Amino acid sequence: MLVTGRLTVIGIGPGPEAWVTPAVASVVTDAAELFGYGPYLDRLPGRPGQVRHATDNREELSRAEAALAAAASGARVAVVSGGDPGVFAMASAVCEAVGKGPAAWRALDIGFEPGVTAMLAAAARVGAPLGSDFAVISLSDNLKPWALIERRLRLMSEADMALALYNPASRARGAGAKQAFAVLKDCRSADTPVVMATAVGRSQERIVIQPLADCDGSGIDMRTLILVGSSATRLIDRPGRTPLVYTERFARMPR
Ligand code: SAH
Repeated sequence: MLVTGRLTVIGIGPGPEAWVTPAVASVVTDAAELFGYGPYLDRLPGRPGQVRHATDNREELSRAEAALAAAASGARVAVVSGGDPGVFAMASAVCEAVGKGPAAWRALDIGFEPGVTAMLAAAARVGAPLGSDFAVISLSDNLKPWALIERRLRLMSEADMALALYNPASRARGAGAKQAFAVLKDCRSADTPVVMATAVGRSQERIVIQPLADCDGSGIDMRTLILVGSSATRLIDRPGRTPLVYTERFARMPR
């Protein structure tokens, strides 16, 4: 059987249209069918005749399977993620569905288009907090045990890496961020700069910069990205402007 369909997994960035790459915009224009979480699809310009399948945020695998089935029947399909599709998003769900699915899905034309991920947008608001080595951890324990999250927070602290923390509010009543800060206070210095960037690029954007000692998880919601400094992260106060936060390019062996 000749398969003519195509599936492209795209990332539309954290919010503003200016952060949608031209490559992603052209996939959107070209697609006959779009699959994604409803609020993400709502951010894209529509075109007559285009079919939109808005799904719930927790149905990643079944959404990926539906999109693959549509592509297998010959449609040009786009699967939409916020930010970058490879960062805690749809790209791995699509790969997983291909691995588990019918053999015909392996013959499909499947592509991935990167997007601006939330940590890069958040970092750009304050300077260069991720300017040296850093690690990225999701605080969601939907797909992994909380004990593993704590272990990774400790090990990355021992390695003196800056951190980008996604999904800080996925546990009940924001317990994730609260518990993560308790662990980090135990293994990083109290004056470590922390940036809490909420809804970056949108009208409700809020950037809070605090020493780790003052962080208790308040003011954090599901649109917040947390950046935690290393021992080489500095804060420069500026009159009438947000401070600059940056991580020095030179790193020493942690004590
Ligand atoms: N694929 C997305 C991440 C999905 S996980 C990306 O690459 O950005 C969802 C988490 O991303 C949220 O809980 C939050 O931590 C972060 N996030 C997404 N959009 C954001 C925004 N506009 N501002 C701050 N954080 C955001």
